[in-house]
Amino acid sequence: MNEGGLAELRPNSLTAIFDISNTCNCRCLMCHFRLPKTRLQPVNFMLPGIFKTILSSLSPFLKRLTLSAASEPLTSPYFFEILKILRQFDEVPFTNILTNGILMDRRYADAIIDSNVSEVCFSVHGATKQIYEHIIQELALPNC
Ligand code: SF4
Repeated sequence: MNEGGLAELRPNSLTAIFDISNTCNCRCLMCHFRLPKTRLQPVNFMLPGIFKTILSSLSPFLKRLTLSAASEPLTSPYFFEILKILRQFDEVPFTNILTNGILMDRRYADAIIDSNVSEVCFSVHGATKQIYEHIIQELALPNC
């Protein structure tokens, strides 16, 4: 970033993808979470305070915000708190959540509906039950 920093960006010009968790509750065949290096890494979650600080700086420039890209956001113990923070930034035009949907229950669904999330994308890993179950393997490994 040059001297002008974020101030040089146009409003609604930026896409931000937040991985608020670095883990997943699955170990799909084709995923980096199958690799020992990733599977055995220490589990970390973005703290709500850090999320809010970053979002405060970025929000005037955002056109889109995504939770998450390379992990499962619903594994974060701070997911509900992060949604509440997100609600305070309703100037962000479009927000979405990418999830495998396995942890989604009424509590998550209600919190998402009450937030200003624009879209929830569910990743579906197979067109048949057999293929889906073949791909999404080894749920709840010890470091999840
Ligand atoms: S659900 Fe997505 S992030 Fe999780 S293991 Fe499968 S492909 Fe990877």
